[in-house]
Amino acid sequence: MFTKRPAGLRLLTVHAHPDDESSKGAATLARYAAEGVDVLVATCTGGERGSVLNPALDRPEIRADLTRIRREEMAAAREILGVRQQFLGFVDSGMPGPDEPLPEDCFAAQPVEVAAAPLVALIREFRPHVVITYDETGGYPHPDHVMTHKVAVEAFEAAADPKRHPEAGEPWQAAKLYYHLALSRVWFQTLHDAMTECGVPSEMGELLAGWPDIPPALATTTRIACAEQFAVRDAAMLAHATQVQPGVAFMAHPRDIEREVWPTEDYHLARSFVSDPGGPVGAVENDLFAGVRVAEGA
Ligand SMILES: [Zn+2]
Repeated sequence: MFTKRPAGLRLLTVHAHPDDESSKGAATLARYAAEGVDVLVATCTGGERGSVLNPALDRPEIRADLTRIRREEMAAAREILGVRQQFLGFVDSGMPGPDEPLPEDCFAAQPVEVAAAPLVALIREFRPHVVITYDETGGYPHPDHVMTHKVAVEAFEAAADPKRHPEAGEPWQAAKLYYHLALSRVWFQTLHDAMTECGVPSEMGELLAGWPDIPPALATTTRIACAEQFAVRDAAMLAHATQVQPGVAFMAHPRDIEREVWPTEDYHLARSFVSDPGGPVGAVENDLFAGVRVAEGA
């Protein structure tokens, strides 16, 4: 499967499709990988039912070969981020219309316990200290994103329980589970305001106008400084060439403004088995491994 590395810190992030690892939390992955943390991306589906968002590549021969092309794009992004990556082998659910049923073979149509089994085996083999995934909303209303949340939470719990999936290896309790807070309303608003103040045209106004201004449901518990890795993040995103929509709102802003007004990627700590959080209670963490490093001697 993958070669075991010497003992050290391990970070697992669970995503729905190839490209999600590059659009949510990629600079965090690049930063920890550069620091020597063993970083593994688990990708639930192959992105087979995704559309080609880049008009320059929206050609019949590309659409016909999308599964292979998305694997190649994923391999390029993985190299750029300096991480390892593994597909969990499920089929993309696509984005059905409001009254359309899910395709029978797809990821989101599987029972959660069945769909979590490959991830339980992966967690027991890789033994991550930290797991990152989406919140209950999926962060984005795609059935695969909502399912990824369910499967990641299920696998986080089941991997630690010796009575569950006894055939899938020795139980492993990851110390922490985080949810992404990426691409939030406040992030878009902050960048939009900063661009407007500098006289830079912003593509984000339209998006913000249609977005209800309600407080976020989840507290920001953790901010990871990763502005130095934004260029790596961008290169990884561009490696998913069929998925890059020119001028899309979350890509089209000056990076110097982003580095100045929002130099972090942010997370919500959803579960923790760390006895000493490694900082004052209630303080915002600046490290996903806060409280883990001491215990691991890393
Ligand atoms: Zn996705």
